[in-house]
Amino acid sequence: MKLIVDQCQRYAKMRAHTATHLLHTELAKIFKNTKQAGSLVDEDYLRFDFNADRLLTSEEIHEIEKTINQIVYAAYTVEVKETSYNDAIKLWAKAFFEDKYGDIVRVVRVFNNENETLSIELCGGTHVSNTKDIGCFSISWQEAVASGVKRITAVTWPKVGLRMHEMQEILDTTVAKLWIKTATQMLDKLDKTLKEYDELRSAVESLETLMIKDFLQSNNFTSNKVFEKIFNISSDLNFKNVGFHAKILFPDSTILIYTKEWSFLILSKKWSSAKKIAEGLGIRWWWTEVMVQGRDENILKLFK
Ligand SMILES: [Zn+2]
Repeated sequence: MKLIVDQCQRYAKMRAHTATHLLHTELAKIFKNTKQAGSLVDEDYLRFDFNADRLLTSEEIHEIEKTINQIVYAAYTVEVKETSYNDAIKLWAKAFFEDKYGDIVRVVRVFNNENETLSIELCGGTHVSNTKDIGCFSISWQEAVASGVKRITAVTWPKVGLRMHEMQEILDTTVAKLWIKTATQMLDKLDKTLKEYDELRSAVESLETLMIKDFLQSNNFTSNKVFEKIFNISSDLNFKNVGFHAKILFPDSTILIYTKEWSFLILSKKWSSAKKIAEGLGIRWWWTEVMVQGRDENILKLFK
């Protein structure tokens, strides 16, 4: 049983490894001076890092997948040959510019029926003997991993099938959640829902503004030596909005707005500094000269 499993894993890695070589060739066509910056070959899964100053466009991804799958379906030979380094250089010089190798090298070459080389690398790994064994190739992800280094993650059959199955499940769940019949209606429904969401959000914002203004003008405040107006507000209210409207409504007052969770805003009146007030009270703060914001439990002690 163990032997069978090992053989499955071995073939899965071989599929991914040959696919990595094909991917490398396609990337080199797009990014002329690109170099491999790292590679991971796992079971029907591969990760390839390479030097490039930009990510691939979706058209390029589609093109790479198409070309590699054409090579897969054409069932071309993958030849593994040991030869002297000098012979390899003579035959395929441009394929292995500056890397250092021993006298005898192992060349992995994919070629078509006209004996044209489609991919060639010096490599010690195990490979499928015919491209058809890869089954199918699909890029699942690309990202930037470091400055000038991009990463492509891809899968070979049967993981392509598993991935399609996962995607279908996500699609089915989304269709059900959006109360539509087919995935083709999804974009329309999404646009409609987003529009409704925007309308609702602006309605909620207007309502909140009304509530805030109402609250600030209700004389529901206290005062002390430092502040002319002290508002204790509910944490549900948009804190910054409250500050914004308080500044407009009471430009000539020094104001403190705080919540029971110690968040506070200090607004100074003209020509005075909210920063200095906060410093005088010994509480931690940040923001601007006329409006400071902070979170400090000492704020509660000020009014006990
Ligand atoms: Zn290799």
